Amino acid sequence: MQGVTSNDFSSACGTPRHDLESSSAATVSAGPGPAPVDLLRRLRARGAADPVTHVERVPARAGVPAPWPSWAPAQLRTAFTGRGVVAPWQHQAEAATLAYEGQHVVVATGTASGKSLAYQLPALATLLADPRATVLYLAPTKALAADQLRAVAALELEGVRPASYDGDTPRTEREWIRRHSRFVLTNPDMLHHGILPGHAQWSGFLRRLAYVVIDECHTYRGVFGSHVAHVLRRLRRQCARFGATPVFVLASATSGDPATAAGRLTGLPVTAVTEDASPRGGVTFALWEPPLLPPDAGSSPPVQPGSSSPVPPQATGDDPSRSVPPQGNGDHDDLRQVRRSALRETADLLADTVAEGVRTLAFVRSRKGAEVVAANARRALDDAVPGLGDRVAAYRGGYLREERRELERALLHGDLLGLASTNALELGVDLVGLDAVLICGYPGTRASLWQQAGRAGRSGQEALAVLVARDDPLDTYLVHHPEAIFGAPVEATVLDPANPYVLAPQLACAAAEAPLTPADLALFGDGAKEAVDELVAAGALRQRPTGWYWRHRERPEVDLRGEGGAPVAVVESSTGRLLGTVDGGSSHFLLHPGAVYLHQGVSYVVDQLDLVDGCALVHTEEPDWSTHARDVTDLSVVSVRSYVDAGPVGMFLGEVDVTSQVVSYQRRRIATGEVIDTRPLDLPTRELRTVAVWFTLSPQSLTLAGVQPADVPGALHAAEHAAIGLLPLMATCDRWDIGGLSTALHPDTEAPTVFVYDGHPGGAGFAERAYGTAAAWLRATRDAIAECGCETGCPSCVQSPKCGNGNNPLSKPDAIRVLDVVLANLPR
Ligand SMILES: [Zn+2]
Ligand SMILES: [Zn+2]
Repeated sequence: MQGVTSNDFSSACGTPRHDLESSSAATVSAGPGPAPVDLLRRLRARGAADPVTHVERVPARAGVPAPWPSWAPAQLRTAFTGRGVVAPWQHQAEAATLAYEGQHVVVATGTASGKSLAYQLPALATLLADPRATVLYLAPTKALAADQLRAVAALELEGVRPASYDGDTPRTEREWIRRHSRFVLTNPDMLHHGILPGHAQWSGFLRRLAYVVIDECHTYRGVFGSHVAHVLRRLRRQCARFGATPVFVLASATSGDPATAAGRLTGLPVTAVTEDASPRGGVTFALWEPPLLPPDAGSSPPVQPGSSSPVPPQATGDDPSRSVPPQGNGDHDDLRQVRRSALRETADLLADTVAEGVRTLAFVRSRKGAEVVAANARRALDDAVPGLGDRVAAYRGGYLREERRELERALLHGDLLGLASTNALELGVDLVGLDAVLICGYPGTRASLWQQAGRAGRSGQEALAVLVARDDPLDTYLVHHPEAIFGAPVEATVLDPANPYVLAPQLACAAAEAPLTPADLALFGDGAKEAVDELVAAGALRQRPTGWYWRHRERPEVDLRGEGGAPVAVVESSTGRLLGTVDGGSSHFLLHPGAVYLHQGVSYVVDQLDLVDGCALVHTEEPDWSTHARDVTDLSVVSVRSYVDAGPVGMFLGEVDVTSQVVSYQRRRIATGEVIDTRPLDLPTRELRTVAVWFTLSPQSLTLAGVQPADVPGALHAAEHAAIGLLPLMATCDRWDIGGLSTALHPDTEAPTVFVYDGHPGGAGFAERAYGTAAAWLRATRDAIAECGCETGCPSCVQSPKCGNGNNPLSKPDAIRVLDVVLANLPR
C-alpha cells in the first residue's frame, strides 16, 4: 500500500480524518477490546439457550490504491495531500475519470469508502480549469451538506467560494451566494421551493452549471424519490434553456442495480462504479434471536387467534395510513409478547460490551427506544460498578453540530464507550472505527444493515456486529435464513416517476416556471401527455400554439414529502402550545377523540379532532390504558395492468380504489393488554386510488388443500399479514408503506382474494415490485410462517401491529396451506 496512509479514506466524506489515524487511536483509553470471537462467546454464554442462530465472518479487505488521474491539476492534488489524502482508491479514480470525461456516473460502494472524492475530484478540477463553471451539490440532510461544505472549504481552493443555500441561509447572504459561489450545497426541497421557481435570479449560476452532485441518492425512494426525480428533470430543463448540460455524479450506499435506479432518478443513462477498493477490517457478524419468555410471562392476548367465533362478514383490512408506527418505542404494545424484547436484549448486550471495555454503538429504530436502551444499560453498569454507567449515552437526530462533534470526540477518545442511537447516525455523521455495533431490529433493508454494520471495524482490527431480532415476521425470518442477508444482493431502490399523482403536480410546477412545450413531454417521460391533458381539462393549464401555460398567479403548492393530506397540528388546549404534527393520513388513527397520544414520553389525551382546521386539542393525562383505533376498509378494482393465469390461482397487478373509515377504538389496560371496552367514533371515510398486487384462489383448490370453508377468512387474513411483513425483503419499503385486505369472496374477483396495496396515492412502486417477485416473496412468506416456533400465531409470524381488525380471525396452519396452493401453481 505504498503511498497511501492507512485511514485517510475511512470517512464517508472521503476527507482525511486525522483523529482516526492509528497514532491517535493507539492512545485512546479504550484500547483494543477482546477479539470479537471471544467477546461473542462470552455474550452468548449468558443465558440457558444459545440466542445466536448464525455467525458470518466478513473477511478483511486490503485497499487498492490508484495513481492520481493525469487530468487532476497539481494544485488540487496538493490540496488533498495537505489534508492527508495521498492517492485515491481505485473506485474513486475510476468514477472521477468517467465523470470528468462527461459521463453520468453513480458510485455505489460501502460505508466509509470515500465516495465524496469521486465527485470532488472532477467537480473541483473543472472549477479550477474554468473560472466560470459552477457545481450544485444536493444532500438529503442539512447535517450532511454541512459536513461537505466544511470538507470542500478546508481545501482552501481559490475562487471556489463554497456555500450552503438552504432554509436557514439568511436573506442577506442569498444574493451573494447566487452571484459569487461556484459550489452551492443544498437539498431537493430547496431546489424545488426556492431555486427552480427563482430560476431567473439563478440564471448566471445555471448557465454555467458543469456538475450536479447527488449524494446518498439511495434515500430518494418511493413517492419522495419520484418527486425528486421530477425536480431533477425540472432542473435539467432550466439548464437546457440556458444552454447548459451538466454532468450528474451520484453517490449511493451499496444497492442493487444502482445504474438503473440512478437512471430512473435522473432520467439519464448512468454508468455505475460498484467495485469497492477501500480497505476494510474483518467483521464477525452474529444473528441473535432473543429467548422465548416463560409461557405465563407475557401479557394475555387481546384476541384468541384461530378462535371459532363467527367470521365477520366484511373483509379484513389493514390500513397503511398509520404511516408512522404507533407512538412509543416501536415494539408492539398491544400484542402478546412471546420473546424477550429486542430493546432489553440490546441494552444487556450494550452493558456487557461496555463492561469489557469495547467501544460499542447500538442502533435502535426510534428515539424513545434509543433512550430506553441507554438508560437500561447505564443502570446495569452502575449496579455492577458505580459510575460506569456514565460511559454510556443516547444520541438522536436534531442535536446541534457542536453537540454531535462532542459526542463523536468522546467516543473516539474512549471517554464514552457505549452509544445508543437512532439511524440519524446513518447520514452525515463521521463515526467509524468502532469495536462493536449492535443493531436492534432489522433496519428494513440490507443496504441500511450494511451501512450500520459498516461503522464497525478500525483499519487492521477485527470487529463484532450483532443483529438482534425484533418480534416480527421479517426479523424472525432473517435470523433463521442467513442466506437472505449474506447471500443476497442489496435491494434495488424503488421509485416510480410515472406515478400520475406525482407527475401532474410536478408538471404544474414546471409549467409555472416556464410554459411546457411538446419537447418537454419526452423529458418527463411516460404519462406526461396524459397528465398535461388532465391539467388542461381541470383548468390548471391553458394550451396555446407555443405550449402549455400555467393559468394561476400563485405557484402550485406541492410538497415533495406529501403524505395523504395536510398535516394535523397537535395543540395543548390549556397553553396553546404546538406539540407537533401528525400527517393527515395517520390523524384518524392517532388523534381521534379519546386517543392516548404520546409525545416525547409524555402522555396526552385527545379532546377534539378538528379536521377542517387541521388541529387536535389535547390535555396531559396518564391513564392506565392505551387506545387502538379500528377501521373498516373497502377495496374495488379499477383496472388490471398485468396478470398471470395459473390454473386455480391468479396473480394480478392493477389500480384499485381503497375506502377506509376509522369506526371505533379499543381501550386496553397497559399492564395486561386486557380489553376494557370498544367505543364508537364518527369520522369521515377516506379514499385512496393506488396500485395493488393481488392473488385469487379457487374455492375448490382450498378445499382440496384441507382448508375448511369457515377457516378461509382466517387463512387469507394470516397470509396477508405475513406477506405484508415480508415485502420489505423485496422492495425498499417498510410495512407502514403498505396495506392489505383479504376476503373469502370479493365482488370484483369473485374468488377468495388477498390484496396488498401501496399506501400512497398513485402507488410508489412497491406493489409493482411485489408482483415482479411474487414467487420469491410468497415463498419467503410461507417459510416465515411455517418456521415460527409459536403454536397459533404471534407477532413473529401472522399477527400484525397495525391490524384494523384486532388480529381476528387468524389461522396460522391454514395460511401455510393457502400459500402452498399459490406456490404450487405459480410459475417461478
Ligand atoms: Zn409465530
Ligand atoms: Zn389484519
